[in-house]
Amino acid sequence: MTTHRAVEKLQVLVRIPTVSHPDPSRIDTAAFDAFVAELAAQFPLLHQRLELTRVDTHGLLFRWAGRRADGPVVLMAHLDVVPVDGDAVWQHPAFGAEMHDGAVWGRGTLDDKGQLTAVCEAVETLLEDGFVPARDVWLSFGCNEEVSGPAAALAVGELERRGVRPWFVLDEGGAIAAEAFPGVEPPVGVIGVTEKGVTSIELRVDGRGGHASTPARNAPTVRLARAVRRLDRRQMSASLPEPTVELLRRLAPHAPAALRPLMANAGRLGPLLTRVLIASGPEAAAMTRTTFAVTTLSGSPGLNVIASTARAGVNIRIMVGDTVAGVLEHVRRTVGDDEVQVRVLDRNEPSPVSPRDDAFELLESTITEVFPDAVPAPYVMMAATDSRQFTRICSRVYRFSPFRMSKAQRESIHSYDEHLGIDAFVDGVRWYRRLLERIPG
Ligand SMILES: [Zn+2]
Repeated sequence: MTTHRAVEKLQVLVRIPTVSHPDPSRIDTAAFDAFVAELAAQFPLLHQRLELTRVDTHGLLFRWAGRRADGPVVLMAHLDVVPVDGDAVWQHPAFGAEMHDGAVWGRGTLDDKGQLTAVCEAVETLLEDGFVPARDVWLSFGCNEEVSGPAAALAVGELERRGVRPWFVLDEGGAIAAEAFPGVEPPVGVIGVTEKGVTSIELRVDGRGGHASTPARNAPTVRLARAVRRLDRRQMSASLPEPTVELLRRLAPHAPAALRPLMANAGRLGPLLTRVLIASGPEAAAMTRTTFAVTTLSGSPGLNVIASTARAGVNIRIMVGDTVAGVLEHVRRTVGDDEVQVRVLDRNEPSPVSPRDDAFELLESTITEVFPDAVPAPYVMMAATDSRQFTRICSRVYRFSPFRMSKAQRESIHSYDEHLGIDAFVDGVRWYRRLLERIPG
């Protein structure tokens, strides 16, 4: 009975198209209003008993008073979703939340309304049972995570203002991931302990422009192309960060016999493993170093016009251990051309690595209880989450979504055919319930 109820709530929330956009004037505010109202209707006890502070336009920060207020737990999620690409063919409507093959299909089921609904349902059912958490529990739901909007930072500001120093923070990312590692049979309960820093720069070359019939050599477009080419050829140095070494070590007993010794001794064999990962393709290589992707290019607007300005946008994912300053130094040195201007559009350092102490152990043991077949392990997250803002007030920031996900499901995030298994969702609700029950005083 309870099970069914939570799935219906998820469906109702997925049907509301809360698509975020970097330009606030292009956001369907009515959808966000509807979502906030629907959440209140679906989780009445939570809204009655918890204290709510609105953050930014539609961000929600709830405080559930526990038996002690200091060292609280923060559970995060976000209510916005990425747009649906009109050209991608979904098997089922993106905002239909239809049930097929034992799953709810739709944008946001995995990222991140499944998580948001699971947190709320866990709290709602615990309130129904008269449960009081051992510590304060804060729920922080962002409304513009997908466009790196200000809601999460404002929520952190609000907590700071109140002098709240969380024991730990738990956000999206990670999963009970099946087919996570070649040859490893059991699913891996990956908990993100750090995330790469997302930084964007623009390379720009100015010149004289002119008519395309009389081109001079080394025009802005050519100089820019040379800079892009150099950046692509020379990578920053690679290494295995400590959480990756620990991940490999924990997977070793489950890996094919030939790989076991290598993985078990990942710390000592770091340089060798790093080379193996780089050779295994872009996904594995990204685990070992800072990456540079030239994403936008522009020159002149006309075919017969020489560009007076050529620009390239570069999206950089900074590995833990590297810094924005170090990356910029690498770019200037590698490009080696003073005519190429480097402008930083957006800067984020990699998040500090969270410790594996009591809070991590609580997450781990709750994973083992609810998903006995899974191997819990730390990892470095490649994508960015709102939780990076919380590293300002908390050293224990973790990223884990308690849902079983196949490889295809993980690839459907921000893509098409996003769907969450009904059993997986129900297990996720149970995981949050157990986590809240197991929080020590
Ligand atoms: Zn997300």
